[in-house]
Amino acid sequence: MQVLLDDYVRAAGIATALVNTAPEVAVSTGDLLAGPDSLARFLTEHGIRPDALADGRSPTADDVAEVHEVRAALREAIEAPDAATMTGLVESLVRDVAHGPGLRQDTDGRWQWSLGSRPGARVAEEVALVAGVGLLSTLRVLGHDRFRGCGSPTCNGVFVDTSRGGRRRYCEPEICGNRLNVAKHRARARAAREAAQQRERSPRR
Ligand SMILES: [Zn+2]
Repeated sequence: MQVLLDDYVRAAGIATALVNTAPEVAVSTGDLLAGPDSLARFLTEHGIRPDALADGRSPTADDVAEVHEVRAALREAIEAPDAATMTGLVESLVRDVAHGPGLRQDTDGRWQWSLGSRPGARVAEEVALVAGVGLLSTLRVLGHDRFRGCGSPTCNGVFVDTSRGGRRRYCEPEICGNRLNVAKHRARARAAREAAQQRERSPRR
């Protein structure tokens, strides 16, 4: 899998979304990446196409456990007290998987710096690579004050602010920014989680 170093807005958004699936954020709903099916949906929703799944196989329970470890490491990096600590944490996360850099043409034909994943990389390593590039490229372009905790008193989320003005306050602006919607959001997340669990209990076709 190739990750364009300048495509940091998308990659940082993936890091934010992944970290906020954790049970310490989704307190009332529990882990939003509880099993292989919810991980598969997360990858699809965010356009992540790991080489490890290129043969059409689905994520396994081991992949889920490994992605949980990556998620915890990413949260630690986002909450790091300073930029040097953050870069150290992210570099140790991507060091063994990153392959390159090399130049690749994007969909508009422009040449872009790109990092690849090593042959045989695990799903979680490829997720770490894209999220890690998101964090490091955001730091390089926008600075360390773009890594913050959610401003909602009822939310334990964190986020990477890649907005132009840098004044984002909430991990999910439409939700955490409107306290009246918090209860609705939790109900929706709970329903989504229950539906996911239902699907995971159903026999695979
Ligand atoms: Zn929030």
